[in-house]
Amino acid sequence: MSDNDKTPKKPDGGLPNGMFGPGSNKRWIWILLPLMFFLPMLTTMFTTDRGTEISYTEFLNQVERGNVAQVTIFGHQVQGRFRQAVDTGGGTLFGQDRLFTTYVPPFGDDRVLESLRENNVVIVTRPPREPITFFGVLFNILPLVLLVWIGMTIFRSMKAQGRGIFNVGQNKAKLYDQDTKVKTKFKDVAGLHGVKEEVEELVDYLKNPQDYAKLGGQTPKGVLLIGPPGTGKTLMARAIAGEAGVPFFSMSGSDFMEMFVGVGASRVRSLFQDARKQQPSIIFIDELDSVGRHRGAGLGGGHDEREQTLNQMLSELDGFDPTETVIVLAATNRPDILDPALLRPGRFDRRVTTHLPSVKDREEILAIHAQGKPMADSVSLAEVAKQTPGFSGADLKNLLNEAALLAAKKKQDSINMVDIVFARDKVMLGLERKNMTVSAEERKIVAYHEAGHAVTAAMLPNTDPVLKVTIIPRERSMGMTQQMPDEEKYLYSRDYLNDRIAVILGGRAAEQLVFDSITNGAQSDLEQATKIARKMVTDWGMSDVIGPFSSGEKENIFLGEELSKHRDYSESTGKEIDNEVFAILRAAQKKAKETLEKYREGLNKLAEELLDKEELGAEDVKRILNLA
Ligand code: ADP
Ligand code: ZN
Repeated sequence: MSDNDKTPKKPDGGLPNGMFGPGSNKRWIWILLPLMFFLPMLTTMFTTDRGTEISYTEFLNQVERGNVAQVTIFGHQVQGRFRQAVDTGGGTLFGQDRLFTTYVPPFGDDRVLESLRENNVVIVTRPPREPITFFGVLFNILPLVLLVWIGMTIFRSMKAQGRGIFNVGQNKAKLYDQDTKVKTKFKDVAGLHGVKEEVEELVDYLKNPQDYAKLGGQTPKGVLLIGPPGTGKTLMARAIAGEAGVPFFSMSGSDFMEMFVGVGASRVRSLFQDARKQQPSIIFIDELDSVGRHRGAGLGGGHDEREQTLNQMLSELDGFDPTETVIVLAATNRPDILDPALLRPGRFDRRVTTHLPSVKDREEILAIHAQGKPMADSVSLAEVAKQTPGFSGADLKNLLNEAALLAAKKKQDSINMVDIVFARDKVMLGLERKNMTVSAEERKIVAYHEAGHAVTAAMLPNTDPVLKVTIIPRERSMGMTQQMPDEEKYLYSRDYLNDRIAVILGGRAAEQLVFDSITNGAQSDLEQATKIARKMVTDWGMSDVIGPFSSGEKENIFLGEELSKHRDYSESTGKEIDNEVFAILRAAQKKAKETLEKYREGLNKLAEELLDKEELGAEDVKRILNLA
């Protein structure tokens, strides 16, 4: 691709090349700086001038001759200086500094000191010198080597992330992805029928821009795809490019964020420039919210880099003239935190929402991704679709991939239902923790806890049937009871919700009933139950005491605009609401406890069998509880 050799040379940021120069020169700084620091230390260590070594006899001679000016005694080692240079007989002429070294006998020689004093030699005594050993040197150099190594590592990792401080000019990192021959078509996108209808017009426009220009109609330049992760936003954007047969330029919002202010903005500029050159074309910006967050929002004030990038994007969006056929698609799952400026007319003024797939959509998505994966006859994709409520398109794709890997590992010719169910649990609950040691007592508590959920779910009238109970510890849980709604539900009755809370509290109720103690294992149960109960009172008007009322309270977990929830009811209403929430929870707890007492035998049997088999399916639960 010709664009590949052009891209890297593009100046990546506002910094001139000369300022930091190419990376290879600068790298030496990391080595040189510490070296310059330690070098003097090293040289003294190795090259301390101890003068010429002379014999003990020669030493005594020179002392007696009065030619020794000064000695320094380190243990057995004596260093000193002659008054005059001497020829020690061996032909060695002492240099100008007239230094010498000798060693005194270890058994001592009383006469030496006497003689030294008689001859007016200055005597200095020092503790014995540390010998220079291999390890001594090692310990001195090791920190230095380490320092250099750490420096190099940091340097390399920065470079690997494409944001080397020193090599802005020669950054090899891609500025954006470009795909001139997108193969994705609408048939590769399952479900999302409403979205397809919406974007069909864009495809037509990209194919025949002159038709639109003729009539003077304003075509949308910016379209925002809104939806949870993995629901096919990117896929849809690519399909538009594929259907229209136009080049697809894409970049993720988080990619714009760079170390140096100005880099993000210049990337936006070159992205739009290149897309314009190849029009008709599509620009796709994923994770728009990471650039387009409300300006000045968040903790710690504004983020310069982000604001500059955003401003650049806004001016690019405004800068299109009507004859230019470039469509900008952007994806986000947080439209609420976007800067309002982005949503103004002429910018991302058109919005399309992708939802999590319905059961029928899931079946279609599974069918698409099952292509090229041989399935055993036992596999029913409709059944898999039923058992995967809440899965996104990406989750479903992942599920089939996991199942295929599993089947391959077992050397099967095709994927069967067991593999799919196993993969589903893995996608949903995380990997099994095979080597996690759970004490016998803990296992028993978990078994009763899960049996408590299962029995309440099976016995209360307004509940979804139990699909599976397991006490295999996984990444995200110690055990799990899964229920399966018969059909997708959009409306929930008060009775259903009350029973649902009772099932959620059934785990802890069983612990209390059987062990007469409670553990902290029920935290997420309690959170979930409390959340539902609160919603019943404040959002869905299901409390007789509070009456038909919805608070309009929005949860805002992100650090967008509001850090705290705003409430539009009085303090005293707040108290009443709390009381109603507590009442709902207590009633549900009571119901769970009564149910478990009534079916105590079934609870015990279920827990026992769980301890034995670890995992029970829908049929097992029915059998154990004598249900039809
Ligand atoms: P998003 O951009 O919304 O986070 P993606 O488009 O990246 O999600 O989806 C990830 C993958 O999941 C896609 O590449 C595709 O294989 C699969 N996928 C998601 N939704 C669908 C769908 N409706 N039909 C077919 N495949 C889908
Ligand atoms: Zn539980």
